[in-house]
Amino acid sequence: MKMELSTTAPAREERLKAGIAFGGTCANLKYCLNKACLNNANRSFSQTYGCQHGLSLGILNTLRNAVVIMHSPLGCGASTNSSVGQGSNFKRLRDPKAEGTIWLSTNLDESDVISGGEKKLRDTIIYADKEFRPEMIIAVSGCVPALIGDDIDGIISDLQSEVAAALIPVTCEGFKTKVMATAYDAAYNGIMKKLLKNVVREENLVEDDFEEIQRKYLLSRHVNIFNVGSMSRADELELERLLNAIGLAVSFLPCYSAPKDFAYSLENSLNISVCGTHDDYYIKYVEQEYGIPFIIDTIPIGRKNTTRWVLKIAEHFNLEKEAEAFLKKEDELLNESLKPYRKNLKGKRVYLGGGAIRIVATAEVLQDLGMEIVGFKGHHIDKFIEPTFEALENIDDVVFNVATQQPFEQVNIVNKLKPDVIVIHSGINNITAKQGLPILPLFGPTNIYMGYAGVFEIACRLSRKIKNNQFNKNISKNRSLPYKREWYDKEPFTYIRED
Ligand code: SF4
Repeated sequence: MKMELSTTAPAREERLKAGIAFGGTCANLKYCLNKACLNNANRSFSQTYGCQHGLSLGILNTLRNAVVIMHSPLGCGASTNSSVGQGSNFKRLRDPKAEGTIWLSTNLDESDVISGGEKKLRDTIIYADKEFRPEMIIAVSGCVPALIGDDIDGIISDLQSEVAAALIPVTCEGFKTKVMATAYDAAYNGIMKKLLKNVVREENLVEDDFEEIQRKYLLSRHVNIFNVGSMSRADELELERLLNAIGLAVSFLPCYSAPKDFAYSLENSLNISVCGTHDDYYIKYVEQEYGIPFIIDTIPIGRKNTTRWVLKIAEHFNLEKEAEAFLKKEDELLNESLKPYRKNLKGKRVYLGGGAIRIVATAEVLQDLGMEIVGFKGHHIDKFIEPTFEALENIDDVVFNVATQQPFEQVNIVNKLKPDVIVIHSGINNITAKQGLPILPLFGPTNIYMGYAGVFEIACRLSRKIKNNQFNKNISKNRSLPYKREWYDKEPFTYIRED
């Protein structure tokens, strides 16, 4: 079906039949994925979780040469405070002259709910353009403008001729979806509307045929990798190393890109997803409109997933032989380097929580190290998880919980499963630490998790965490969890309802 650009991206509950509530085994989950019966499940009791407005800022705040305007009450953009400092450093790893995140809020209040917030947005856009002279201004709107009917697209097209910056509307009201990952589509929707245009190149009076042939050849071996906010620069360099080794050049987007990078990416020959749950909306649209093929398969975390990811790309360019020879060498080196860690990690029981694709892929690393997977908690579930399951062994009876945050379910399950270590998404570590277990963050913006180097680094860090867990033991002795004994006696999925 042809994709049409509209004001706002569709919610993933409708577009992908994604689910946010499930409790059972991996075998049950795979069965339900096939039968598409996860879509309507929900909870009769739920703790708070994030909204798509915050998650879309996770991408938009990384963009270079931009001002982000949050068109919402002040609190909607509060998460930005915790990431701007880090964000400026990570931007400078891509461009040493990059500025940190510049963000403004229209700070909508009660009187704006009565009289409308459009004037505030207009004034803020004009102020941002004059004061900061950015290449683009991104207006990210939350629930309130949607409820009071502010015409964001109308303001943007009206003001575009008055300002120098490209104006990008991103509509991501939190109430619209329970699947936070809709945020990725919302952010991409704005990019698709305004930043996809052909590159304007200087034309030489005398054409140099050789240069033109050379340029076209280089572009035919140049690929775009779609990075995710949880990737570090070191992750990117590892993936670039793997693809450079088989003769491909690489560009990364959308995170940390400048506006013109989106136009240049349209000249390259293949779009490659690192995580299908982030990118399918965008790269399917780019294929439809610009004819660029794409690969959405597994995430390159773990040896089997990395091999599969590289070979799929190599296959597209008929480079399988080169890739196989290179990967064999990488495999041998990795095996040698993992020897000291295997002894310490073998047989340890692990629980993993975070993005569903990422946790299942990371479990492959842990099985490779001889560890036992006892449970998973994924933020949401959709069909993109399927290839990552193929890299795992003996997990049919392992517990799988689909829950965006919902720490009450997590503590109950962890209490029953009694793992030796937890690998988990940051943001819920405070609760996890109170159970006294060693924790390895599921990702880290300064660490490496992807490719062969990622397997090695996960092994080193996990080994260190398990050897010395005194800090979390002390936390559990001195800080208790807020749940009553009766909750631990109950079944953890008591409140999940399948309609
Ligand atoms: S749910 Fe709505 S009001 Fe709440 S933070 Fe998200 S956008 Fe703002």
